This record gives sequence, C-alpha cells and structure tokens, in this order.
Amino acid sequence: MFASLAGRTVIVTGASKGIGRGIAKRFAEVGCNVVVVARSHDAAKMVAEDIAVAGGRAVGVTADISTEAGVHAMAEAAMLHFGAIDILCANAGIFTSAKIADMSAADFDETMGINLRGTFLSVKACLPTLSLSGRGRIVLTSSITGPVTGMSGWSHYGASKAGQLGFLRSAALELAPAGITINAVLPGNIVTEGLLALGPDYLASMAASIPVKRLGSVADIANAALFFATEEASFVTGQTLIVDGGQVLPESLAGME
Ligand code: NAP
Repeated sequence: MFASLAGRTVIVTGASKGIGRGIAKRFAEVGCNVVVVARSHDAAKMVAEDIAVAGGRAVGVTADISTEAGVHAMAEAAMLHFGAIDILCANAGIFTSAKIADMSAADFDETMGINLRGTFLSVKACLPTLSLSGRGRIVLTSSITGPVTGMSGWSHYGASKAGQLGFLRSAALELAPAGITINAVLPGNIVTEGLLALGPDYLASMAASIPVKRLGSVADIANAALFFATEEASFVTGQTLIVDGGQVLPESLAGME
C-alpha cells in the first residue's frame, strides 16, 4: 500500500488528450489537484470538467510550453488555484514524421522546441515552487524511440526524446539536494489520438511487433508516472522505466516465435 498523494498538486502538460489526459485522470483519482495544460483552451477545460464531474479537483490552463511566457502562465495558474506545485508531469510532445532529406530546419526546431526545450522550460518554471515542498517530483514522458530504438522518419523526434534523458540525468543531480526527484517513463506504442492519426496499417504493424500482442493504454503509462510520484519512490531519481509490452526485447523476428 502506497502513502496517499491526496491534496498534492500536479501539473500535467499536454493533458487535453492522449497520455497526458490519462495521467491527469489517474492523479485526480488518487486525490491530487490537477492542472491540465494544453494550447487548446476548450480541450483543456473539457478534461478539467470531466475530472470535476468524476469528483476530482482540476483546472484547465492554456499554455504553449515551448515558450517562457507559456510555462510561467502555467506555474502561476497552479499557484493561483491550488497554492502549490508538488508534481510536474512534463508530457507534452509532438511526433510529426519527416525523412531527413525532406525535413526542414523549421520541422526540426519545432519538434525540439516542444519536446526538449519545452521540457527544460517546464522544469525551470516549476522549480522554485517544487523546491518549497521538499518532496517535489518530476516525471518526464520520453519514448522508446530515440533512447532505445530508431524509426525511419522520426530522427528529429528520436533526438528530442533521447535529449530529454540527457537533461534528466544532470537535472537529477542538481535537484537532489532540494529533495526533488526526476525520472522518465518511456512508452512504447500507446493508443492515443496522436497514434490513431498514424493510420490503421501503422497500428496493426505495431501491435504485431509487441510480444504481449496489444498496443499500450494510457493507463499503462499513467500508473508508471504515478509510481515515480509516490513517497515510496523517493530514493529513485535520474531513472527510466520502459513501458512497452516487451517491444524492445526481440533481437529479430525469430526472437518473437
Ligand atoms: P497526443 O495525443 O498528440 O497529445 C499531445 C498533447 O500535447 C495534447 O494535449 C496537445 O494539446 C499537447 N501539446 C502539444 N504541443 C504542446 C505545446 N507546445 N504546449 C502545450 N501542450 C502541447 O500525444 P500522445 O500520444 O498522448 O503523446 C504524449 C507524449 O507521450 C508525447 O511526449 C509523446 O512523445 C509521448 N509518447 C507517445 C507515444 C504513443 O504511442 N502515443 C509513445 C511514446 C511517447 P494541444 O495540441 O492543444 O496543445
């Protein structure tokens, strides 16, 4: 039995849909105050309303986490509504596909700007308040793509997701004296709006390559994020947890037989 997280305040970036929405709802279920962050005002508000209807406490905040103004607005909203930031789930990310030959510098910068720079900016904006709690928690949503595997068309994305882990390891050292832990969940293929947009052929081929023979659910990732946020995980920092149904394990197709 884990100690209760009830009453803690969590900011979840990219929480208007997909994995972020799953994380937001899971933390609300265990009694956290949730700050639901996305660029789309209506979608963020709708998730916050869903949480409230289910008996939780949440507020929807519009912010672009790739900008300093956006992350400051997010941190201020958390303080205004709940008076604290105990947990940051830096989850917002994009995964547009482009082969290197066709990729523009702007494509590369956009992906790095949201996925990597946005991670840094989100952490920095929350740091002063996270430090006050003495038991702050940061959970990044990285990916298997980049840190462990490669995917044609996702070199910029893979670089951003591997970059998050380089950031994480040095950040863990810097933040440890303040009692803040920082860890990352590395999802495999998780059913979200973003993944569904890649089309049925992609989904079918991905499910076939996963040893447990199913795509992941947002709950699979939310439960891993929740673990990193617990009191009981206070001795775990700078670490990564792959949640992928065994997808990265086989050395070859024969390894799946
Ligand atoms: P998704 O369904 O496309 O949702 C992305 C979320 O991020 C949305 O809420 C989106 O809302 C928000 N967002 C994007 N850019 C933002 C910005 N600049 N500022 C604030 N919010 C922003 O994606 P997902 O599949 O849930 O992925 C979530 C995270 O998991 C990403 O970091 C992704 O790399 C990672 N991941 C996903 C999978 C997977 O299989 N789905 C696998 C590995 C890793 P707005 O557009 O309204 O801003």
